[in-house]
Amino acid sequence: MEEMELLIDLHRGSQRQGPGGAEETQKALALAGVDPDAPLKVADIGCGTGASTLVLARLLVKAQITAVDLVQEFLDVLEQRAHAEGLSSKITSLCRSMDRLPFEDQAFDLIWSEGAIYNIGFAKGVTDLIRYLKPGGLLVVSEISWLTSSRPREIQEYWQGEYPEIDRPSSKLRVLEEGGYSPLGYFVLPESCWLDNYYRPLEAGFEDFLRRNGNTREARKVVEAEKREIELYEKYSAYYSYGVYIAAKPDAKQA
Ligand code: SAH
Repeated sequence: MEEMELLIDLHRGSQRQGPGGAEETQKALALAGVDPDAPLKVADIGCGTGASTLVLARLLVKAQITAVDLVQEFLDVLEQRAHAEGLSSKITSLCRSMDRLPFEDQAFDLIWSEGAIYNIGFAKGVTDLIRYLKPGGLLVVSEISWLTSSRPREIQEYWQGEYPEIDRPSSKLRVLEEGGYSPLGYFVLPESCWLDNYYRPLEAGFEDFLRRNGNTREARKVVEAEKREIELYEKYSAYYSYGVYIAAKPDAKQA
């Protein structure tokens, strides 16, 4: 089995595929000043099995949410979860790469993306997405970020290798400004978003994953890579987290 298929198999049983939390999604909504009763058009980009999509659907009473992911297996789980909660009528799933979105310009009031924009890079991602926002529309995007101005070499080298765009929040805010946005704020995801909500449930599935994939060398390699990431997080969590960045597309009238 290819690595991608193994990764999908490992992650699709989880509530979420990256660090985050329902409370933090709600906090970002509040910080963004979103009116929960407005008839909002929302896109959730790189939604996975719907961790944030479902929170948005619960909280935004009249929203229509388009949930986009590259992986149909994740969207299938999202649809089952939405159905079970009676939220299906508010969510449309779309299997598509985030750099090939079929939307009209200015289609959305709110674009959401948790733990996913890194797949095409933060700068490209946020710059590409702005056209799909209405003037005055909001972007909420989480992105792995350094928390301090310097850090031990081991963790610097690891994340530099995994994701060269990892940087400090001040740089991410600048990228947003240069992409045409007005940054409104950001906050840092607490450890519980990594450990309780993401890594611990993931670890709990390792044994079953290896068993159902015949304990092959490829499957073991996938687990080893996850274990390494977790071990480094446990050692160096003081130095990095996800930042949740909130920005507005300026209203042309005010520009
Ligand atoms: N937002 C979810 C998932 C984060 S994991 C959560 O917080 O739990 C990153 C997600 O991005 C995965 O679901 C992965 O399938 C998706 N993804 C990866 N590359 C993508 C691309 N090019 N376009 C759209 N989605 C992509």
